[in-house]
Amino acid sequence: MSISIPRAKKKVEKKPAGSGKKIPFQSPKGMHDRLPADFIYIDKIEKALKKVSGFYGFDRIETPVLEDIKLFERGTGLTSEVVQKQMFTVKTKGDGVLALRPEMTPGVVRAYVEHGLLHVVNPGKFFYMSPVFRYEQPQHGRFRQFYQIGFEVLNSDDPVYDAQIINASLKIFDEVRLKNVTVKLNTIGCKTCRAGYVKKLKEYYKNKLGLVCRDCVKRYAENPLRMLDCKQDKCQPFKAEAPQTLDFICNSCKTHFKSVLEFLDGAQVPYMIDPTLVRGLDYYARTVFEFFAEGVDFALGGGGRYDYLSETMGGPKMPAIGLACGVERMIEAMKLQNIELTTKQNCKAFLIYMGDQAKKQAMMLLDEFYKAGVPVRESFAKESLKSQLRLADKEQVHFALILGQREVFEEVILLRDMKTGAQETIPLKKIVAELKKRI
Ligand code: AMP
Repeated sequence: MSISIPRAKKKVEKKPAGSGKKIPFQSPKGMHDRLPADFIYIDKIEKALKKVSGFYGFDRIETPVLEDIKLFERGTGLTSEVVQKQMFTVKTKGDGVLALRPEMTPGVVRAYVEHGLLHVVNPGKFFYMSPVFRYEQPQHGRFRQFYQIGFEVLNSDDPVYDAQIINASLKIFDEVRLKNVTVKLNTIGCKTCRAGYVKKLKEYYKNKLGLVCRDCVKRYAENPLRMLDCKQDKCQPFKAEAPQTLDFICNSCKTHFKSVLEFLDGAQVPYMIDPTLVRGLDYYARTVFEFFAEGVDFALGGGGRYDYLSETMGGPKMPAIGLACGVERMIEAMKLQNIELTTKQNCKAFLIYMGDQAKKQAMMLLDEFYKAGVPVRESFAKESLKSQLRLADKEQVHFALILGQREVFEEVILLRDMKTGAQETIPLKKIVAELKKRI
């Protein structure tokens, strides 16, 4: 039997029946489907995360998507925007209210304490890649469901972990080939010394309240530190002139920050100190940091110490540090930087059938390939030899395996080299071993 591959003529594909009709639903506002093409990027990020986590000894953790709302009210903080305005909530049948997690950290801390892991792994080093939910006004780089990858180091205030988390994050960016990623960092002091700083900040802003934005006026009353986090143009000049944390923090915080910088210097990690950097969540203390990539106008990720979070949630004293990066933002940055990812072509053979008998045989044969760990593609929905061969060509496989009625009857299969066109007849019984040998 001789088979010629159809020329790559432009063929008008017949549309499947009913393809003009649409389902009258769309994914919810600010929430996206993750389609196969997205997974080229997602898989790359996940692989990088696992590689780096494996090396630095972070174990994977996953917590429920829903948690008691109080976990976030107490943990993330009532004055944070995330808790004030952005939580999706679900009423339970009793009086309880659950919230779709707007971030991972409080859940991870809860799980570490709840399962007594703090007596087993100390410090607890965890990583995750999970969806989180914030009821935001969707805009560029800002969604209502998005994914975060992150690290947490629980039960240690050792500055070496501040540096390790920053270093490990940069390794991930490097693994996904993001170029020119910079880290900005600052210290916002501890519970004790921050009070003095906040007093100075309030004094500074006191006679400027008529000039700053409405949100900042609110922040002045509730959490003045967050005035430094304001993105409104009119507030920028005041931010730039505001007193700096570094001038007011206590000696212990200074020493801690100095050590973080020394560890970073030692590991030759470049960084920029940004005295106006504070972070959006209430629980941060001491080191805070954010990552930015060249050509991208939003933060890729950020984190910091949350030494009092466990206590605030009613748990034990447990200093800790963590980081979270937005996966969608990383993907956008990869696209903006024109990072091309090639999908590894791991399938080298395509199984083609002709006729009902051959289809049944092909179905059984496919299982043999599965058992032998030999990847083989098929397109059982197509019937003509031409369209199956065209697909094999499109998949760029090395071999086409062709099974017609006659081959089934003679218990053989045709093995066609798609590059040279050479074709051999192989006994069906031997084809799995033969193909395994050749690919
Ligand atoms: P946060 O948990 O607020 O510290 O944010 C950590 C990172 O998550 C940010 O630097 C972003 O990369 C990402 N992120 C935060 N909010 C959103 C959002 N609404 N949509 C997409 N990514 C986000």
